[in-house]
Amino acid sequence: MPSPPDDCLFCRLVRTGDHVHRADGFVAIDDINPLAPVHVLVIPERHIDTFRDISDFDPEEAKRMLEFVADTARTVGLEDYRVVVNVGPGGGQTVFHLHWHILGGQTMTERNL
Ligand code: AMP
Ligand code: ZN
Repeated sequence: MPSPPDDCLFCRLVRTGDHVHRADGFVAIDDINPLAPVHVLVIPERHIDTFRDISDFDPEEAKRMLEFVADTARTVGLEDYRVVVNVGPGGGQTVFHLHWHILGGQTMTERNL
């Protein structure tokens, strides 16, 4: 498996960021440029560039990551929320280390997608 780039921002934030929630292998941080009243990013410790490479995670790890997304939303006080993964530049991805956006604290509609 290729090693992550030395300068990966999210690899660094996994080690040194201000985590709002963490579990073995995963952290959650507040997005620096929130697009909703609550906007949290879930970042796996293990670097993969994009969701396209999700098969690099074994089933148990992938399941734990999804459970951590739901657990993080609960931890930050959300019952209703949106989960987004941007895939590739055309999908809006700007940081090439897999992450999940959790957006909430307002009614999420098609218009604020
Ligand atoms: P994406 O565009 O899906 O790759 O998402 C990257 C997200 O990372 C954007 O929502 C940015 O606002 C956020 N971001 C970039 N730098 C930081 C940082 N230092 N701390 C927290 N969030 C960041
Ligand atoms: Zn990384």
